[in-house]
Amino acid sequence: MKIWIDGQLVPEDEAKVSVMDHGLLYGDGCFEGIRIYNGRIFKLGSHLRRMWDSAEEIRLQSPYSMEEVERAIRETVSANQLTDGYIRLVFTRGVGTLGLHPFLCPVPTVFVIADTIKLYPQELYESGMQIIVAERRRVPRECLDPQIKSLNYLNNILAKIEAIDAGVLEALMLNMEGWVSECTGDNVFVVKDGAVFTPPPDAGILNGITRQFLIDDLGPSLGLPIQEKLFRLEEVYQADELFLTGTAAEVIGVTRIGDRVIGDGTVGPITRRFVSEFRARVTSDAPED
Ligand code: PMP
Repeated sequence: MKIWIDGQLVPEDEAKVSVMDHGLLYGDGCFEGIRIYNGRIFKLGSHLRRMWDSAEEIRLQSPYSMEEVERAIRETVSANQLTDGYIRLVFTRGVGTLGLHPFLCPVPTVFVIADTIKLYPQELYESGMQIIVAERRRVPRECLDPQIKSLNYLNNILAKIEAIDAGVLEALMLNMEGWVSECTGDNVFVVKDGAVFTPPPDAGILNGITRQFLIDDLGPSLGLPIQEKLFRLEEVYQADELFLTGTAAEVIGVTRIGDRVIGDGTVGPITRRFVSEFRARVTSDAPED
């Protein structure tokens, strides 16, 4: 595998980051996960814009322009001969001192990995996934806005450990006010009486690119408009259908939360329409904007 790092494509075993890099020492940096479908880079423009927004929020200035990073991504994908796969773009604060001071790190480290991806097992897309509600709350926006896709994912990882301990793959997180926010690596949607809704960005979530694609594009084209609104766990338990979205997960139905069954316990008809329309759109002609 070839990795693009700091301006060069190198073999994987030569792609190294210093132990003094603040991405490693402090989780100081940001990243994106991006999919390649049938030779097209799904929503690359949106991912690059979100990367630049994250970097700006943490006052990290990329040493490369957005066009240069786009070129680096395309080069990495073609060097690895991928027509379907997953791209990881990372900016770290760079090499510095042992202190926190971010501005003593003169140059951010930038790298791009492009590889294949293992999704949730295919049968879960048919039968539905089981999740739990995490005890751990989503970090409040006032402390570290989840809109920043930062390298510090411990809040999510600790909730993910709760899921793993419970024998499932995802956990739903509430915000500090008790509103439903998102899962550890996926956004959440509820279907009730034919209406589809999802928490707004101010619930303290990452505004997922997949989520936004459903709101702007798939929902309207299926005649299923999606409303952003705050809701409590009770509305999740009483939902007819529940599904998650994410770059890795795509669209996947949830049929159980803890020991509660959602709807009739199968992946419902509206979720199925989103799952199949998403697949159809990305495999035929994935939008790159
Ligand atoms: N929320 C969190 C916390 C995430 O890490 C992700 C990305 N895996 C998502 C939601 C989904 O976002 P996207 O659709 O952009 O992958």
